[in-house]
Amino acid sequence: MKPYILGIDIGTGSTKAVALTLTGEALGVVQNHYPINNPEPGYSEQDPLLIWHAFVKCMQDITARVGYAPVTVSFSSAMHSIILVDETGTPLLPMITWADARSEDIAQELRHSVQGAEIYRITGTPIHAMSPLCKLIWLRTNKPELFIQAAQFISIKEFIWFKLFGSFEIDYSIASATGLFDILKLDWSVEACKLAGISAAKLSIPRNTTYHRNNLNPDTAALLNISQQTHFVIGASDGCCANLGSHTTGPGIAALTIGTSGAVRITSPKPVYNFDGMTFNYLVNQDTFVCGGAVNNGGIAINWLLQNFLQKEKLTPADYDELFATIDTIPAASDGLIFLPYLYGERAPLWDTQTSGGFLNIKPAHTRAHFLRAALEGVCFALYDVLKTVEDASVNITQVNISGGFVSSATWTQILADITGKRLVVLQPEDASAVGAIYLAAQVLHPESYDQLTHVDNQTVIEPNAQNHERYSKLFPIFKKLYRDLMDSMHRLHELDI
Ligand code: ADP
Repeated sequence: MKPYILGIDIGTGSTKAVALTLTGEALGVVQNHYPINNPEPGYSEQDPLLIWHAFVKCMQDITARVGYAPVTVSFSSAMHSIILVDETGTPLLPMITWADARSEDIAQELRHSVQGAEIYRITGTPIHAMSPLCKLIWLRTNKPELFIQAAQFISIKEFIWFKLFGSFEIDYSIASATGLFDILKLDWSVEACKLAGISAAKLSIPRNTTYHRNNLNPDTAALLNISQQTHFVIGASDGCCANLGSHTTGPGIAALTIGTSGAVRITSPKPVYNFDGMTFNYLVNQDTFVCGGAVNNGGIAINWLLQNFLQKEKLTPADYDELFATIDTIPAASDGLIFLPYLYGERAPLWDTQTSGGFLNIKPAHTRAHFLRAALEGVCFALYDVLKTVEDASVNITQVNISGGFVSSATWTQILADITGKRLVVLQPEDASAVGAIYLAAQVLHPESYDQLTHVDNQTVIEPNAQNHERYSKLFPIFKKLYRDLMDSMHRLHELDI
């Protein structure tokens, strides 16, 4: 029986449990799904009890799959959720997820104020509807009775932790994504709490991400099918764990993901601020930050094009290969055709819900394949914009570790290498967030196994083509300027009632 660490990733659509032995051998993965509810436009809610049940089932399933219980369990979880609970940890309302947009107007007003900039500097969290700070302001105004009645304001990870240990505790990483936590003082921010209208006593006790507990009560241990002495590490957020799990920890290395949406993240010993681009600064631990930005328009923008213009309702891997093969003959920079990918509004670095997509500089010579190539380039330019924003405020990036669905396409990844001019490394460990949680646990509870557990070999490397990079370097400033030039018209179009 090889001892193993279980990484639990509490995601938005499912909870996953990944089992790795102390030598890094994968023993199995189990996953349990739950719904997201949208009772009103812009609302995104979940039942935290269903997530607890999914977690319990993951624990039971993995011990059944492997045949014995883990020695250590460690958590990663989605950021920005908020649950109003009473003193027994019972929810007073459904959980509000990161995707909930009901506090958009509040966020917008705050973002453009002096106070908003100060709150961003203190807390590292972009001022956006995803931020629990903005959600609390909305709740105070719109659900005043429940807001006053709430004994605690907690996230999904604290909800699960409370069910395990009966104590309201939060890791620095999840705390640093609330918009309420002072990321340098490592305590709740007086200013942010005042703005939210709450006392810090109604927030959980902040803990280091390697903080751990055992001594479960006998009933809980029996329910989870483990020993009472099993150690639980509180862990970090999914974004921070993903950086650890994808080995994006050294200086000059960035992680870049393109899935449905996209994100860029670096690891830094200090926060990296950009007051316009509002890049985030989330804590991995007291002296390590994950800094970066997320974009809305990743694969979702490409899929829109493929489905609507290229008549592909359901996309198979063979469809992507076939369609993307048609663009290899089109020169880099698509003969000047530019795609602004902002179909779904944009988060970093524009923070503009009213922006929209567009093709520009269309000429008679442009073919269907040009449009497809320009679309892939547009999505990569938007991510390069975030990468440059972070890089300009920190250190030179020499390597980009890539992950997400786009990694399957040699065409798309080469475009990204050529646009960024950086060496890309395909580092796609299955379930990087859960694996990152396992690495955190190994640091503190199994240090003798750490090197062996985290060792990777066989990396795929994609080098940029210098000539193509030069072409893209001429186009990129125009891509950036086009948004600024068109912003006003996009906003007017958004307001237009036709
Ligand atoms: P999610 O963020 O929802 O987990 P994925 O990481 O699976 O999504 O990425 C999904 C996106 O990846 C799709 O929207 C699509 O644009 C892209 N994609 C998926 N499969 C392929 C493929 N075989 N080749 C190129 N791109 C792909």
